[in-house]
Amino acid sequence: MKTRNERCVEKGGKTKCAFCKRIGCGLSVYLSRGQIIPEELARFPVLLSSIAHYTLLRCPECGTYFKKHTVIDNEIIHGYVSVEIEEIREERVRELQRLETSWKRQFSRRVHVRLKNLRATFTPLEKAVIAAFIALQKEELSIYELVQLRPNEDRSSLQKALDALVEKRALKSIDLQGIRQYRIR
Ligand SMILES: [Zn+2]
Repeated sequence: MKTRNERCVEKGGKTKCAFCKRIGCGLSVYLSRGQIIPEELARFPVLLSSIAHYTLLRCPECGTYFKKHTVIDNEIIHGYVSVEIEEIREERVRELQRLETSWKRQFSRRVHVRLKNLRATFTPLEKAVIAAFIALQKEELSIYELVQLRPNEDRSSLQKALDALVEKRALKSIDLQGIRQYRIR
């Protein structure tokens, strides 16, 4: 594991807790070499889980923000998987949150435009299923992902709602490596 003091963005300013001081401005954790994410960090609450495949974390003790993402290098011999964690400033956190909200809004608008003429025919559960696509900003979902997202719903009613949406031509079902995916038309 190597710390990245050279990339420090926030020098001085607020007082860091002992742990955040210790990791400096970030870490590269090479999972492929058996390194593990420090357990303190693994317990940091997630502020944002971006569709751009990163998460924002905030230290519960001192409030320092970190951006975390995974790098997968597929090169055959020297390939590796690492988790990159870097400290970021609060203004950057706000900026990323705004960006995420605007992506979500655009995605939601696009889906609504596409389904506009069908919407009146949807049952409340079918609407909730479409809302799940929007919440995840995904064009495609499987029943498994949907069940995880709506754990209080009965799986067979979710499946029925998916089938009905296919019937209404709001979704299209495709088989991807043996798993049925539902795609917004
Ligand atoms: Zn801290």
